[in-house]
Amino acid sequence: MTKWVYSFGAEACDGEASMRNLLGGKGANLAEMASLGLPVPPGFTITTEVCTYYYDHDHSYPDALTAQVEAALKAVEAETGRRFADAGNPLLLSVRSGARASMPGMMDTVLNLGLNDETAAGLAEASGDARFAYDSYRRFIQMYGDVVLDVDHGLFEDALEDLKLSNGLFMDTELSADHLRDLTQTYKAIVQQETGQPFPQNPMDQLWGAVGAVFASWMNNRAITYRRLNDIPAAWGTAVNVQAMVFGNMGNDCATGVAFTRNPSTGENLFYGEFLINAQGEDVVAGIRTPLPLTKTARLVGGTDDASMEEEMPEVFAQLDAVRGKLERHYGDMQDLEFTVEKQKLYMLQTRSGKRTAEAALRIAVEMADEGLISKAEAVGRVNPDSLDQLLHPTLDPDAERVCLARGLPASPGAASGTIALTADEAEARAAKGEAVILVRVETSPEDIHGMHAAAGILTARGGMTSHAAVVARGMGRPCVSGAGDVRIDPATGAVFIGSNEFKDGDLITIDGGVGEIYEGEIAKIQPRLSGAFEVLMGWADGLRRMKVRTNAETPADARMAREFGAEGIGLCRTEHMFFDADRIITMREMIMATDTAGRQAALDRLLPMQRRDFIELFEIMSGLPVTIRLLDPPLHEFLPHSDAELADVAQAAGISVDVARQRSLRLKESNPMLGHRGCRLAITYPEICAMQARAIFEAAVHVAQTSAAPIPEVMIPLAATAAEIAICRKIIDEVAADVFTTSGREVSYMVGTMIELPRAAVCADQLAAEAEFFSFGTNDLTQTALGISRDDAANFMHAYQEAEIYETDPFVSIDVDGVGQLVQIGADKGRSVRGDIKLGICGEHGGDPKSVAFCETVELDYVSCSPFRVPIARLAAAQATLTDN
Ligand code: PEP
Ligand code: MG
Repeated sequence: MTKWVYSFGAEACDGEASMRNLLGGKGANLAEMASLGLPVPPGFTITTEVCTYYYDHDHSYPDALTAQVEAALKAVEAETGRRFADAGNPLLLSVRSGARASMPGMMDTVLNLGLNDETAAGLAEASGDARFAYDSYRRFIQMYGDVVLDVDHGLFEDALEDLKLSNGLFMDTELSADHLRDLTQTYKAIVQQETGQPFPQNPMDQLWGAVGAVFASWMNNRAITYRRLNDIPAAWGTAVNVQAMVFGNMGNDCATGVAFTRNPSTGENLFYGEFLINAQGEDVVAGIRTPLPLTKTARLVGGTDDASMEEEMPEVFAQLDAVRGKLERHYGDMQDLEFTVEKQKLYMLQTRSGKRTAEAALRIAVEMADEGLISKAEAVGRVNPDSLDQLLHPTLDPDAERVCLARGLPASPGAASGTIALTADEAEARAAKGEAVILVRVETSPEDIHGMHAAAGILTARGGMTSHAAVVARGMGRPCVSGAGDVRIDPATGAVFIGSNEFKDGDLITIDGGVGEIYEGEIAKIQPRLSGAFEVLMGWADGLRRMKVRTNAETPADARMAREFGAEGIGLCRTEHMFFDADRIITMREMIMATDTAGRQAALDRLLPMQRRDFIELFEIMSGLPVTIRLLDPPLHEFLPHSDAELADVAQAAGISVDVARQRSLRLKESNPMLGHRGCRLAITYPEICAMQARAIFEAAVHVAQTSAAPIPEVMIPLAATAAEIAICRKIIDEVAADVFTTSGREVSYMVGTMIELPRAAVCADQLAAEAEFFSFGTNDLTQTALGISRDDAANFMHAYQEAEIYETDPFVSIDVDGVGQLVQIGADKGRSVRGDIKLGICGEHGGDPKSVAFCETVELDYVSCSPFRVPIARLAAAQATLTDN
């Protein structure tokens, strides 16, 4: 019989950490902690397979589930010595989601389950604390009402406010047991009013209601968005964890908290966390009360007077610190812990691998390898290559003038400037139009996730370092300042007060998430310098990877930056991009619009010295390294003049009238420029263009070879579909090379190759390889032509394709392995079949996407090439691609 339910606790423990696919991360780790002998309140996990069954069978459960849940519940009763639904000494339960991958705050939770009028009275009696019992009961009705019965939680909040107002009270803590008991009656009346049914008094009905709500929450909008953003398949499903409640809110000898075994922002090996005395777990995570630091050191650094847990509860803290060490050694990774202290007794409620900034991930990986907890290869595998983007974000220029308006917590590093947006929808809408926005909220909730993702930065008035905003922003790599007490938002007018200054929606501000500061206007930023743990880990990665990493660059600035980031040559120099400068584009247009060879040659003669200078500079920067220079590939719509002023400039330069220039431009206009007169088609029709570029390349190479290490030019023919196209271009290139070498009396070695960016080129790659010494897969055009989707128009509908899971990720970002990937494989195999040593690389945008880089390793490409800022990402991804467990 299928086992749908797994118990955990001191006495019975069916699961373990390796079972996270079945039990979800939370369930598997609760079982693991219980097996390690750590104090875990007993409970059981309903597996992710039940979730799959639930969705496959019209929201129903397998037959055997009821009996298995009841048996597991009996075991919990036995271990706790309490009985579910027993008015004398009631067992209360928490019911929480727990997917294979952590999805913080995205799904539903119900606490204090099992309370009804009778058991609440029993709990009051048994605990000797009626206030606590009715406070728990009213929280339960509200949570259950909201999560399971879909009652607007604002109605409960309003009733609570009314009760305080009518009694002249301000704080929840001032309410007496009688007030709270009355409040439970009001809450039940709200439920009756809103649902037409009484609040369920049968604890077993409550349990099944909560289990159903957790499964249903797998498909709520925020969970769906989170999964899409984090590549989590819907098919995984969530588990449900049912666990005996322990109470951090039974008095001042109780507490609850969240901790990281190392600092998740910096990676420093110091116990790090926050706790609240006399509170329930959700209070810490929700950022409603500002929590206190865990350690004395953190308190001193933060400059607060409130005692830390280490000082307030030294014995329990010592136990927690011991658990910290045990868990780190056991898991060999930084852990994120949740704990509760009930009457001075410590309980562990969760452990999981902690989310961390890229800076922290690097430092933790390197230090754990140095401490012998993990191997160097494991350390390399620990850092998400995409997260390095965070380190490459700009920081504020220290010399830039600025006045700090207010401070908050440095919740997620990086500096960002943008206009204030007060809602997530507004942030998303304005960001979609290309505006940089800072999402400014009192606090964020999972409903804001789309706006947080769209924003350049996030600023919240409330919430600690483990609040929703902080955790989510860090995971996304968005700069974030949280808990900025001096930021006030007037919901009525939309005014935002930052310190003593007043702003409004749309005003420009800057935040620095590394130090937690807020400034007016835009402030100059500088690019980060990479050092320390980054260099060490990159060194280990370089030692592991097989593929080389080159860069796509055409300007000296980009080429230099890419070298600093570790690029091992240029994989794509898009020569048409060298003519975007205002003074050059006119000559370029003149050349394109010339109606005869003489006119074109005149423009080419002026372009030649410019090209030669460019190549000399690139060859010097890339001294001794390969530099792939692609012949001109200008999609005409990007280069033809549009405005009257542009037409007038070209007309003047070419000595023709504006009208003639307009006519020529109109004649050149294409219906489908992406499939038009571009790529090697230009060289076939106008061989003089190819000849000019070849001359510039070889004259530059010969020049540089006189003084420094000879460059290795790789001349690349774009958009070829046939061997004949390559043969024609190659003949021109070889002839020019021979001429330059004879004239200069110096030879440099070079290669001529082609891009594989059309399906025909891939399937006929054996024919092309007879002419080409190397292939570079141009997966941008290959994706465009294989899928028949215009690169320029895909954004209009691609989101719908992703939402419908037609393509899991945008195929222009991450390679479509099944389709385009197969073309790459065919191209590589056929190329090698004719030319065993053919050099193979990729230079489409996919060359900097970790998943695509992993694919390239399976095809055994020689190198990947990507934009300069992605070079470190590609280096790490290429190393991870060689690790066997990837
Ligand atoms: C490609 O098509 O993948 C490529 C690198 O060329 P471009 O993006 O310039 O068309
Ligand atoms: Mg292309």
